[in-house]
Amino acid sequence: MKLPRPLSHSSISLYNECPQKYKFKYVDKIPEKPKHFFSFGQSVHLALEYFYGPKVPQAPSLEELLARYREIWVKSGYRDENQEAEYFEEGRRILTRFHDKHAKSFHVPFSVEYNFSFEHEGVPLTGKVDRIDKLPDGRLSILDYKTGKKLAAGRLDVDSQLTMYQFACESQLGAEVGELIFYHLPTLKEHRTVRRDKPLVDELTARIMATAEGIVKDRFDPKPTENACRWCDYKPICPIYKDQYAGMPPIAARAAGEPELAALVDKYGDALAKVREAKAEADAAAGELAAALRKKNYVRAFGERYEVLAAPAVKWEFRDKKKVLDMLKKAGVYEKVLAPSAPLVNKLIEDAAVDADLRARLGEIGDRVESAELTLKIL
Ligand code: SF4
Repeated sequence: MKLPRPLSHSSISLYNECPQKYKFKYVDKIPEKPKHFFSFGQSVHLALEYFYGPKVPQAPSLEELLARYREIWVKSGYRDENQEAEYFEEGRRILTRFHDKHAKSFHVPFSVEYNFSFEHEGVPLTGKVDRIDKLPDGRLSILDYKTGKKLAAGRLDVDSQLTMYQFACESQLGAEVGELIFYHLPTLKEHRTVRRDKPLVDELTARIMATAEGIVKDRFDPKPTENACRWCDYKPICPIYKDQYAGMPPIAARAAGEPELAALVDKYGDALAKVREAKAEADAAAGELAAALRKKNYVRAFGERYEVLAAPAVKWEFRDKKKVLDMLKKAGVYEKVLAPSAPLVNKLIEDAAVDADLRARLGEIGDRVESAELTLKIL
């Protein structure tokens, strides 16, 4: 079946919540704004993937776990530095308590971040299970971490995400699932239930087929509800709300008016997105490599194509920069941390209030390069 992308639990939920929203996201490929709760969830998940990464029954130390957490911290989507710092601390608290509870009884899981990808009656399906353990009777225990503040009552017994994971693991791993767990990390509480019965699995497969059929047949009607629309990034271009945003030209028309320019804007935006993705990947690989070298006490290692040397370095990170600056100012050492930098000199030379002679002398030893500062916004 020709779908824009394989169906996952979240894309099926999105289509059923509002088909128009699914279309904006997956067919028109208009990205949503980054959300802090996704970034937070991702950071804690990555840290726990590291915790359960060792192939020997020895958990990483708390220091290693928290160092990893700092390295992989996903910064996007936070309102400001204060909100980010608050969430960072909450993640530290969760991981410290998690380590305290599980490090001593550490076991190597059957699988961590298990990626599945298969077809059901011609419909491609994909997803990722946080952790799979083997039960004493040989069956599988499927676990999904939750970082949200609350877990809705009754959700455990009907949630289609766990049903999807059971369905995928049994289809792909050929082992029966014995139990399903939502692990609520803020309270360190494991909410367990037994495997899903056939009616719930049948309900899921019927939903998969109906969703795939709707997408293939281009059924993308908006389905407005208070909950879905309140936080929907697509409101300004949604047909339901078009009168509210009447003053703004719709995105399609903006792109259609200047197709060549629109193509260049998108090319620039896509290239930056790739750079960001590659940078995040490189940062994560560097963090993993540094931790592996530290663990073995090595300063040098070889790959097939590269060699790496690790120079010991100590770096301080300050989350509350304002507090640091205030402290330095009070202690009278503020000037010592100020250094000339290219952006500051640039500002100086363009500032009419600065001594004209100084600006002229700087101009003599510099080259004026015409350029445009581009600020890119995701539509
Ligand atoms: S604003 Fe509401 S109806 Fe429109 S796409 Fe978003 S969720 Fe759907």
